[in-house]
Amino acid sequence: MNHARIIDAHCHVFPAKIAEKATRSIGDFYDIPMDEVGSAERLLQEMDLAGIDLALICSTATKPEQVASINAFIRDTAEASGGRFYGFGTLHQDMTDEEIGDELDKIVSFGLHGIKLHSDFQRFYIDDERMIPVYREIARRGLPVLFHMGDARMDYSAPERLKKVAREVPELLSIAAHLGGYSVWDRAEILAGEENVVFDCSSSLPMLTRERALWQIGLFGVDRIFFGSDFPMWKPGEEIERVRALCLGKEQEEMIFHKNFERWIMKKV
Ligand SMILES: [Zn+2]
Repeated sequence: MNHARIIDAHCHVFPAKIAEKATRSIGDFYDIPMDEVGSAERLLQEMDLAGIDLALICSTATKPEQVASINAFIRDTAEASGGRFYGFGTLHQDMTDEEIGDELDKIVSFGLHGIKLHSDFQRFYIDDERMIPVYREIARRGLPVLFHMGDARMDYSAPERLKKVAREVPELLSIAAHLGGYSVWDRAEILAGEENVVFDCSSSLPMLTRERALWQIGLFGVDRIFFGSDFPMWKPGEEIERVRALCLGKEQEEMIFHKNFERWIMKKV
């Protein structure tokens, strides 16, 4: 009865065989020491510890030939989780239009709920002309895109680029991860007021002061922010505590922990 529902809207899982190596290479990329392993088993343990009901799981493909196996892995992992995982598939910019169309149909038939793209890992500009028809195809199937956002060291996932996409493809719902721009939070402000952009607060709160985080959440609208841990980057339980430490009050906390995700993504009223 006391248990408040919590959805973790940003988690990564990798097949057991490569989980350790994949986790380490993400840690190296972001220069953050990783003492976690991004496996489904570990994520379920952390969810149980932290009282998380549902986790969005995803993984990105750095080569086109990885796409089919990643999508099958996410489907299998979600299916085996007994309703604990909510799967997002992935695509790669070097696939042909036909391959992308076929893969999207598969993603829908697999029961996956959206697409995750990490343009810094995948090396494409979010607003690359090549991607515009891809976004249209995604939106046509009613799927949202979870975009990794921001990196001060490169320009692929710049907030300014997502703003262009949001306007050029108004029918696409974008989830801008990391409060709109990891390590470029100031620049993410320009995403405020875009009607088809919502946000997750993963990989942000450890780096932002309480005042700064509250200001940014207020700017985007508390009804547009999802809780996310970016597991295995951060411990879900500790990230929940970071949201609680914002002292938003029960109602706003509930919006961030589950209600916004249910309304925007799961389409529950
Ligand atoms: Zn991610």
